[in-house]
Amino acid sequence: MKHMLETESNNDNNSSFQPNIYDPRYWDSLDSKMIDILLQKGPIRDLSILKGPKDRFSRRFSATFYTRVLANGETCDREWLVYCKPLDRVFCFCCKLLRKGHAKGQLANDGFSDWNNFGTRLKEHETSAEHVSNMASWYELRLRLQNDQTIDSIAQREIQKEREHWRKVLYRIILIVKFLASHNLAFRGSNSKLYQDSNGNFLGMVQLLAEFDPVIQEHVRRITNDEIHKHYLGHGIQNELISLLADAIRSEIIRKVKQAKYFSVILDCTPDASHQE
Ligand SMILES: [Zn+2]
Repeated sequence: MKHMLETESNNDNNSSFQPNIYDPRYWDSLDSKMIDILLQKGPIRDLSILKGPKDRFSRRFSATFYTRVLANGETCDREWLVYCKPLDRVFCFCCKLLRKGHAKGQLANDGFSDWNNFGTRLKEHETSAEHVSNMASWYELRLRLQNDQTIDSIAQREIQKEREHWRKVLYRIILIVKFLASHNLAFRGSNSKLYQDSNGNFLGMVQLLAEFDPVIQEHVRRITNDEIHKHYLGHGIQNELISLLADAIRSEIIRKVKQAKYFSVILDCTPDASHQE
């Protein structure tokens, strides 16, 4: 459990004012994202505070209230009980953060400080239906946030998966362009549609890969089912990739020439129809 003072001194290092989310005084102004973080981390208890200041009846807050003694003598920690020293009040962590509409009782609102009746009030509160339901929601939410199972994270994972798919598709298209270019093969035929006659080497390679590669298989499936219209197989993308590869090769040659200082050029010539080299 982190120390309350530690988080406060961390905030001091920051020039812009950042409220300490563990401080119940700021809980009403937190947005839903901050509340999620707080619910996941749980409250922070300052263990150095053993007793609060005495009230006019000489009664006060005591750290012993954190422990609940069950009827059979067993003890358990009241994890939800939060003492706010500057206010000298206690709050119920889950009822204050998870209340729906107007909640009854000061523990879920402005804090409780009637130390004379505190013991009775605690027992009443922790057995109330509202508190039990809020505790259950808190534990369940915390578990889901820890296991990354909220609706948000499912959407996030879907986006990540899609991004990964497109990266793999593009990688294969680049490799096809690289293969055809390095073997001096023509890219296009007289037809530019998948699975039609004379559609050229490029689309032919895509069809070949679709026979066994699951990534291209899925890509081709989406195209033939009209699920996507940006298929990255058209003339434009082929030319763009060819010129990107050419740029990369040219800069690599220039880099090597500059580094080597001395270099020779070999030309491979072929005679034309008039037998001229
Ligand atoms: Zn409660």
